[in-house]
Amino acid sequence: MITIALSKGRIFEETIPLLKAAGITAPDDPETSRKLILPTNRADVRLIIVRAGDVPTYVQYGAADIGVAGKDVLDEHGGTGLYQPLDLNIARCRMMVAVREDFDYESAVRQGARLRVATKYVQTARAHFAAKGVHVDLIKLYGSMELAPLVGLSDAIVDLVSSGNTLKANHLKAVEQIADISSRLVVNQAALKLKRAAIQPILDAFAFAIKK
Ligand code: ATP
Ligand code: MG
Repeated sequence: MITIALSKGRIFEETIPLLKAAGITAPDDPETSRKLILPTNRADVRLIIVRAGDVPTYVQYGAADIGVAGKDVLDEHGGTGLYQPLDLNIARCRMMVAVREDFDYESAVRQGARLRVATKYVQTARAHFAAKGVHVDLIKLYGSMELAPLVGLSDAIVDLVSSGNTLKANHLKAVEQIADISSRLVVNQAALKLKRAAIQPILDAFAFAIKK
């Protein structure tokens, strides 16, 4: 049995065409089905639906053989035990630093101010500001980061931005890019060795179907 871990939403939707290219189709829609284990047209392949941030953990421990996870999530996880053969070029966005429209980030940085930064991406933020030599107090959040600067919880946020519409709607501006983000295929290293005959054709089909 090959188990593939996906998260609901954009990653699931954008992975379906890649699975199709590998001859794998799933009848259930995770948005409406309550099932967490979805069978596919292939008796030897199943999908499991997990939180986006949990995908690397399921694959690391071998509970899933393959997964699709954002680079944002992989950077936070660290990638231990994961083989990352493919950038799938889906769920593309950018990891950014953002502040209130009326906050002068450049001069705060220039003056060596200590910044309060709220984010779900604590490791990524820590590494970014350490490399810049900016002192920060990191505040861990689990969502709705845009709210933090508006109510005085933080000076800045580190979050994913695609169109920038959410920032604009909340009178925030992006001031720095940390990384380009897209989703990656991750494979359990032991599973790749033990089940290579079943896994390799899936990797090859994905590689062939990736949009440039
Ligand atoms: P959960 O809602 O379960 O806590 P999440 O909010 O991280 O998880 P999503 O918002 O569906 O889940 O994001 C899943 C992945 O999609 C992220 O890890 C990231 O790689 C990517 N992603 C997030 N936001 C965007 C976006 N605005 N545009 C493109 N890709 C995005
Ligand atoms: Mg979400």
